Amino acid sequence: MRQTQLFTRTKKEAPRDEVSRNAELLIRAGFVHKEMAGVYSFLPLGLRVLNKVIGIIREEMNVIDGQEISMTALQEKELWQKTDRWDDKNVDVWFKTALKNGTELGLGWTHEEPLTRLLTQHISSYRDLPVLVYQFQTKFRNETRAKSGIMRMREFLMKDLYSFARTQGEHEKIYASVRAAYKKIFERVGLGERTYPTFASGGAFSKYSEEFQTISDAGEDLIYIDEASGQALNKEVLNDAVLADLGLKRENLVEKKAVEVGNIFTLGTKFSEPLGLIFKDEEGGAQSVVMGCYGIGPGRVMGTIAEALSDEAGLVWPESVAPFRVHLLSLGADEKALEIYSALTAAGIETLYDDRDVSAGEKFAESDLIGIPYRVVIGKRSLESGKAEIKKRTSSDIETVSLEEIVRYFEKL
Ligand code: ATP
Ligand code: MG
Repeated sequence: MRQTQLFTRTKKEAPRDEVSRNAELLIRAGFVHKEMAGVYSFLPLGLRVLNKVIGIIREEMNVIDGQEISMTALQEKELWQKTDRWDDKNVDVWFKTALKNGTELGLGWTHEEPLTRLLTQHISSYRDLPVLVYQFQTKFRNETRAKSGIMRMREFLMKDLYSFARTQGEHEKIYASVRAAYKKIFERVGLGERTYPTFASGGAFSKYSEEFQTISDAGEDLIYIDEASGQALNKEVLNDAVLADLGLKRENLVEKKAVEVGNIFTLGTKFSEPLGLIFKDEEGGAQSVVMGCYGIGPGRVMGTIAEALSDEAGLVWPESVAPFRVHLLSLGADEKALEIYSALTAAGIETLYDDRDVSAGEKFAESDLIGIPYRVVIGKRSLESGKAEIKKRTSSDIETVSLEEIVRYFEKL
C-alpha cells in the first residue's frame, strides 16, 4: 500500500484522557480510533493486525476440529433466567435494551446459554458427540474500569470456543488439546516467552480454571510464577490452593503483573442440565452433555503485544501479526522506490511504501512509531551505489543490499 493513499495520519499526541500505553501508541500511529472510554474503532493498519491475530487463532481452532459459527448479540431474557444469569445481581456486566413493545433483551457478554440451547436441536445421541464450536463475535460488557485501552473494551471481539463431550474423561482430552492450541497461538503471535498458564478459581465442576497470563506492567492481575514448571497461579487462588497438589512450592514463586489473554474453563453440566442438552448413551440412558468454554480476546492480544513489545520510539510488531512486513521509504528516489515497491508487491511481500513528500526525519520517526518489522530505505545514494539500506525494527544494525537482490532477500528470510 502507498502511504499517500492511506487515509490515517500519525499524531504527535494521543487524546488527553488516554492513560494506557497501548492505546496511546495505537492512536498516535493511526491503528485505532477512540470513540469513547472503552470503545475503539479499528482503522486500516489496526484491522490488518487484528485480522492476522484472528487468522492465527482460527487456524489453531480448526486444527483441533473446531467448527466456526457466528451467533447474535441480541439475547432473550427468558433463556438467561433459566441459568440465573439475567439478574444484574448475578451478572454485573450486562448491557440491556428493549423492543418497542417493552420486551427486554440483552446484548450478549458470553454465549453458553444460546449455544447450549441451539445444540439441543442437533445433538440427541452419543454418536453426535464430541463437538467443538467456536466463533469470533462481538461481546458487550458494561465494564466499570476502562482504563486499559484496547485490553479492556466495552464492545470487543471474542473468540469463544465451547466443547461438548459425552464423559468427563472425553472432556479432559479436549481440554488438553485446547490448552496445547492456546500455547501455540500465544507463541505464534509473539507472546510465547512471557505467557504462562495460570491456575485461577474454577467452579462447581472443577477446582481450578486456567488463564493464560502475559507478563506486563500494564496488567490488572497479579500472578505467581514457578519458572521451573512454567506454571503460574493467580493471586485469587494463592491462599486457598493446596500448592503441593499443583506440583508447586511457595518459595519458588515469583510475583508479576500480568494480562489475562485467554481463559479455559471446565463447565461440567452447569448449562446442559438447566437447558436440557442431553444425549442417549450406548445403553439408551439419558445423560447431560459435559461442557467446557475457552476464550481469547484478539483485541486484548493486540493491545498486549503493543504493551509488551513496544519501545520508546513506538510499536514493534512480530512478523506474524505485523500490518505489513516491509516499510519501504523513498528519500528523494521515487522512481526507483516505486519500481522496488512494485517488485516486492508482485512477489507477495506485504509492503507499505512511504511515497509522501515529507522530510527524512519524519519518515524515520513515523516508521519507528508504526513498527513494521523491516525498513528499506531507497535514497539518492542508492541510485549511485545501486544499494538499499535494510534495518530491522528490533535492531540498530543496517545492512546494505543491492537493489536487484531486495525481493530475493525477503523471499529467502
Ligand atoms: P477479566 O478477568 O480480564 O475481566 P474475564 O475473565 O471476564 O476477563 P472471559 O470472560 O474469560 O474474561 O473472556 C475471555 C477472554 O476475552 C479473556 O481472556 C480476554 O482475552 C478477553 N476479554 C475479556 N474481557 C475483555 C474486554 N473487556 N475487552 C477485551 N477483551 C476482553
Ligand atoms: Mg478473568
